[in-house]
Amino acid sequence: MKKIPKKVVNYRKIYEQETGFPIPEGWDVHHIDGDRANNNILNLVALPSELHQQYHNVAKNECYYSNSGMKPEEEQMTDSEGGRFYDEAINELIKFQEVHRQCRKYVDVRNYQIGEERMHQLKGDLLREIIRRGGVK
Ligand SMILES: [Zn+2]
Repeated sequence: MKKIPKKVVNYRKIYEQETGFPIPEGWDVHHIDGDRANNNILNLVALPSELHQQYHNVAKNECYYSNSGMKPEEEQMTDSEGGRFYDEAINELIKFQEVHRQCRKYVDVRNYQIGEERMHQLKGDLLREIIRRGGVK
């Protein structure tokens, strides 16, 4: 029986084509919504591998603690199991926010790259018309 070939999408190539910038060595391309089939450029972000790994680690913990049904009042029980868990959860959520904030910078980089590339593609009359209408400052 013949194996059905799995459709391999080179999303790194898509990222480079869409942004017009090469992905630096040692960087990964991350799917923002977690859906690896969604290779729309707005769903892709290039991240340094280390940060990418970090993101997935903290995101996993964030999910775990967010879905654990912990109650805020457990904060009071500082020497109890619940209190320790609450502390742990808060620390993980802080870590997640910090890593998430760092990743956002790379989304900004991508947006900048897309914008630049699009402007390069605008030539002649079209660009003049956009400038005339005040579209480019
Ligand atoms: Zn990822």
